[in-house]
Amino acid sequence: QVETLKAKLLEQAQEISRLRSELGGTDAEKHRDLLAAENERLRQEMKACEGELRELQRQQQAPCRDCPHLQENAGLREQVSQLQQEAEETRAKLVELDLEVQQKTNRLAEVELRLKDSLAERAEEEERLSRRLRDSQETIASLKSQPQQIKYIIKTVEVESAKAKQALCETQSRNQYLQEQVGMQKQVLKEMEQQLQRSQKTEAQLRAQIMMYEAELERAHGQMLEEMQAMEEEKNHAIEEAFSRAQVEMKAVHENLAGVRTNLLTLQPALRTLTHDYNSLKRQVRDFPLLLQETLRSARAEISQAIEEVHSTNRELLRKYRRELQLRKKCHNELVRLKGNIRVFGRVRPITKEDGEGPEAANAVTFDADDDAVLYLLHKGKQVSFELDKVFPPQASQEEVGATIQTACVSGGGSHLLLTLPCLPQVFQEVQALVTSCIDGYNVCIFAYGQTGAGKTYTMEGTAANPGINQRALQLLFSEVRGKAADWDYTITVSAAEIYNEALRDLLGKEPQEKLEIKLCPDGSGQLYVPGLTEFRVQSVEDINKVFEFGHLKRVTECTNLNEHSSRSHALLIVTVRGLDRSTGLRTTGKLNLVDLAGSERVGRSGAEGSRLREAQHINKSLSALGDVIYALRSRQGHVPFRNSKLTYLLQDSLSGDSKTLMMVQVSPAEKNTSETLCSLKFAERVRSVELGPVSRKAELGSWPSQEHLEVLKTLLGDSPGSTAPPGRGHASPSPGQLSSRSASIRRKLQTSG
Ligand code: ADP
Ligand code: MG
Repeated sequence: QVETLKAKLLEQAQEISRLRSELGGTDAEKHRDLLAAENERLRQEMKACEGELRELQRQQQAPCRDCPHLQENAGLREQVSQLQQEAEETRAKLVELDLEVQQKTNRLAEVELRLKDSLAERAEEEERLSRRLRDSQETIASLKSQPQQIKYIIKTVEVESAKAKQALCETQSRNQYLQEQVGMQKQVLKEMEQQLQRSQKTEAQLRAQIMMYEAELERAHGQMLEEMQAMEEEKNHAIEEAFSRAQVEMKAVHENLAGVRTNLLTLQPALRTLTHDYNSLKRQVRDFPLLLQETLRSARAEISQAIEEVHSTNRELLRKYRRELQLRKKCHNELVRLKGNIRVFGRVRPITKEDGEGPEAANAVTFDADDDAVLYLLHKGKQVSFELDKVFPPQASQEEVGATIQTACVSGGGSHLLLTLPCLPQVFQEVQALVTSCIDGYNVCIFAYGQTGAGKTYTMEGTAANPGINQRALQLLFSEVRGKAADWDYTITVSAAEIYNEALRDLLGKEPQEKLEIKLCPDGSGQLYVPGLTEFRVQSVEDINKVFEFGHLKRVTECTNLNEHSSRSHALLIVTVRGLDRSTGLRTTGKLNLVDLAGSERVGRSGAEGSRLREAQHINKSLSALGDVIYALRSRQGHVPFRNSKLTYLLQDSLSGDSKTLMMVQVSPAEKNTSETLCSLKFAERVRSVELGPVSRKAELGSWPSQEHLEVLKTLLGDSPGSTAPPGRGHASPSPGQLSSRSASIRRKLQTSG
C-alpha cells in the first residue's frame, strides 16, 4: 500500500508539474488581449489622425484666401480637436488600464505568495505524511515482531489506513485544486511579465526617442546659444565701433565747435564793420540811382562827343585815304612812266643737254659783275655788249621771278607816297608790280620773245613743280584780291587763245578750229573785243590749273607735234580783273596779257618752202609788227601800226595809253646759237633804246593836276633840283636832257634800292 501510495504521490507531483507547464487562456488573459487590441486600434487611429492633421497643416501653410475649403478645413479642425480629445480620453483609459495591470500584477504577486504558502503547506503535509508513513512502517515492523499484537495493530492500521486513504483523497483533491490555481496564476504572471516586457521595451524606445529629442533640443539650444552669442558679440562690436566713431565725430564736432567759436569771436568785430559797411552801402545804394543817372548823362555826353570826334576823324581819314589812293595810283603811274611804260628784260637760260657737247655747246654769254642790266655776247670772236632794263643770268630761279614784294613808304613834303619796291634785284619783282597794277585797272602785256628753245615757254608756263609767270601771276592776283576783299569785290576771268598763220583761235572754246575775229565794240568806246572768245571765271589755283590743262589738251588734240606747232604760234593767256569799290561804287577793269611768242629764228632765210615758209613769213611779219608797235609807242609816235598784225591788233588796248609792257627776251648761251642770240638781243635793244624825249615828258609832267603831285615827284627825283644821277651808258641814252638823266637816276635808284 505504501508503495502504491508513493507511486500515486509521484503521479500527483508529475501531474502538478505538467499542469504547471501547460498554458491555457484565462479571463485576465482575454481581458488583456482585448485591451491590447483596443490599444492597437486606438494607436492606429491616432496615427491616421496625425497624418490628417499634418496634411491639414500643409494645406493651411499654402496661401488660400477666400478658399472654398476653408469651411471644410474648419470642420476638419473640429474633427481633429475631437479626435485629439478622444486620443486624450484613450490615453487616460490607457493609463487606467496600466493601473489595472499594476493592480493585477500586485494581485498576482499576492497569489504567488499564497501559492508559495500553499506549496510550503503541502510540503509540510507531505513531510507529515511521510513521517506518519515512516511511523506506520515502524509500527508494522514492531507489530510483525509481536504477531498478536501485530494482528490487532494490523487491524487497527487497516482501520486507520482507510481513514488515511480518505484523508489522502481529500488532500489530493485539495492539492489538485491548488495546482490548478497555481497554473492559472502562473499563466497570468507570465502574461503580465510579457506585457511588462513590452511596456519596458516601448518605454526604452520612448526613452531613446526622448533622449534623441533632448539631444536634438540640446544641440539646437547650443546652436541657438552660439548664434545668440555671435550676435551678441557682433552687436557689442558694432556698438563699440559706433561708439568709437561717435566719439571721434564728437571730438571733431567739438573741435569744429571750438573753431567756430573762435571764428565767431573774431567774426564779431568783422560783422560789426560789415554792418557798418552795409549801412553805408545802403545809403550809397539809395543815392546810387541819382549818381548813376548823373554819371550816365555825363558819360553819354562824353561818348556821343567821342563818337562824333571818331566820326569826323573817320571821315577825314577816309577822305585822306581816298586822296592818298588816287595819289598813289597817279604816282605809281608816273613812276612807271618815268621808268618807261615798256620794259625790256633779258633772260639767259642755262646750257642744257640738248645743246650737245664740244665747242658748239660752249658758253658765249657773260655778265657784268657791277651792272645787272648788261650782258656780253662773244660772237665770231668779238665781244658785243648789250644793255637792257635788267638781265637775268641762267641761275636766276622761277622763285626769284616770283619773289615777294615789299611795301616801302617814302615820305616827303608832308605827303605820303606808297610804292611797291623790289626787295631783291630780281626780274620778277618787276613782273609782280605789273601784275598788281592790273588790279588797279591797268592793262599789262608780258611777252616772251626769243628763238625756239631759248626758254620762252619755261619762263611763261614753267613746269608743274616749278611754275612760271602765268601761274605765279594769277596766284599773286588772288592773294592781292583777298587782301582787298574788305573794300573791293573782284572777279577774275581767264581766256586762252592762239595766233597761228595770222588766224586767231580760242583754246578754251568748243570749236578750237574756228577762226575768231577782232571787232570794235559797238558802244563807240573804241575798245576791241573778240566775239565768241571763251572766258572762265577762276577763284583758286585749282581753277587755273584746270584752265591750263584744258588749253593744253586743245592744243595737243589739234596738233600732231606740239613742240613744233607751239614754236610757230603765239600763245596768249588773257586775265581780266574787274573790281568794284563797295564804298565809292568805283569800277575798274585791268587786263593782263601773258604771251608766249612764236620762235624768232629766221627760217625764211634758210630756204624753207611751202607751208613752213608761209608760217615763217607770218611769224616774221607779226614779230616785226610787234617790234614796230613797241618802238612807235616808246618813241610816242602819232601813229602806232597796231593793225599790221593780228597780235598787235588784238593787244592794241593793252599796249597803248597807260598800259604797261614787259618784253622778256629769252636767249640761249650756247655757241651754236650766237647768231640768233645776237638777233634777239638786237631786237631787244632796238625796242628799248627808244627813250622818251624831254618835250613829251614835259607835256606829261604838265598834265599833273596839282602842286601836290609835283611835290611827290620832287621827292621821287631827289630833294635838290641840281642833283644829277650818274650818266647812263652812251649808246643807251641818245638824248640826255636834265629830266631824262633824272629818269635814269630814278630808274637806277629803283633798280638798286632792293
Ligand atoms: P622755247 O619755249 O623758247 O622754245 P623752252 O621753254 O621749251 O623753249 O625751253 C627749252 C628747254 O630749255 C626746255 O627743256 C626747258 O626746260 C629748258 N630751259 C629753258 N629755260 C630754262 C631755265 N631758265 N632753267 C632751266 N632750264 C631751262
Ligand atoms: Mg615754247
